[in-house]
Amino acid sequence: MNGKPIPPARPVIGEAEIEAAVRVLRSGMVVQGPEVKAFEDEFSTLVDGRHSVAVNSGTSALHLALIAMGVGPGDEVIVPSFSFAASANAVRLVGAEPVFADIEAGSFCLDPDAAAAAITPRTVAIMPVHLYGHPAAMDRIMALAERHGLAVLEDACQAHGAALNGTPVGAFGIAGTFSFYPTKNMHSLEGGMITTADAEFARTLRLLRNQGMEQRYANEIVGANMRLTDVAAAVGREQFKQLPQWTEQRQSNAKFLDSRITTVVTPPVADNAKHVYHQYTVRVEGGHRDALQAGLTEKGIGSAVYYPTPIHRLKPYLTAEGKVNTAWDLPETEKAAAEVLSLPVFPSLTAEELEYIADGVNTVAGRL
Ligand SMILES: *Cc1c(COP(=O)(O)O)cnc(C)c1O
Repeated sequence: MNGKPIPPARPVIGEAEIEAAVRVLRSGMVVQGPEVKAFEDEFSTLVDGRHSVAVNSGTSALHLALIAMGVGPGDEVIVPSFSFAASANAVRLVGAEPVFADIEAGSFCLDPDAAAAAITPRTVAIMPVHLYGHPAAMDRIMALAERHGLAVLEDACQAHGAALNGTPVGAFGIAGTFSFYPTKNMHSLEGGMITTADAEFARTLRLLRNQGMEQRYANEIVGANMRLTDVAAAVGREQFKQLPQWTEQRQSNAKFLDSRITTVVTPPVADNAKHVYHQYTVRVEGGHRDALQAGLTEKGIGSAVYYPTPIHRLKPYLTAEGKVNTAWDLPETEKAAAEVLSLPVFPSLTAEELEYIADGVNTVAGRL
């Protein structure tokens, strides 16, 4: 293709977002005001009308949710190692310990059987991650949590609008968290949202994000400053309007790639799952992943590996001696880290670009 290289992602900052940001800047009301409130109310429609609490990032959303859940030192939270480090970091930030459990080969999400096997007397919560925009097996995870009296916190940072059996992610657990980082399915420059059905829990989150205050200087609890700005919320509101259309475009791009790619394993979708394709992630077997990526780069096709190093192999999660903790047995996680490759699937891909990507994958992978 005689064009510009295709990037792995192409964040949108359109005229509507720019105008919305300027409008708020001119108003002079820039910090957590009417735009944040409106953004929260609108976002609630994505999660079956649950309460939404906006914060300054997806990581803050996880962090505050864990504080509000009362998770702290001595507690264990079951987390997949095959995720972005933020999932486990949030657990450590409240002084608790992440216990890593393996993933399912198909969905790349937490395996309910592995989660069950990881439960100890210290376990207080399970944190499934709806990785790449595919919902985790929430029916089985909720049943498991109920049997053991555990809380469920959904990391939905990559899965705005995904669903299982018609229930949207972020509407299963005590809370769900979303990220609005620029490469996510929608963004607010930086930003995050916590969703919950529990009004008291929502109130605690609102206090925690703002120094423990509802009324100024009438501090009720110890809190942080994790407020979202009205500028960010105004950008997020414009993006949220476009989310349904962008999701459909991602799904139709994925369908096209599914139908054309024959040389690597295309991403399966579980029964009754709505996949929103934050990433379109193929498996490259036989140790050829890096060679495929290099070949695609040569053709001007961007791709990315999420995640080359599972969290349990990152420095903060090694033993005191700097070794991988042998308590973790994560074969599917290790296999996925060696095989996954995410191809461009963002909404603004043209038909020509999509064909070029599929043909490029088949040509390069075909000769490996
Ligand atoms: C992006 C992401 C986060 C963190 O969100 P930020 O807004 O970047 O802080 C957490 N978990 C997962 C799975 C993510 O992809």
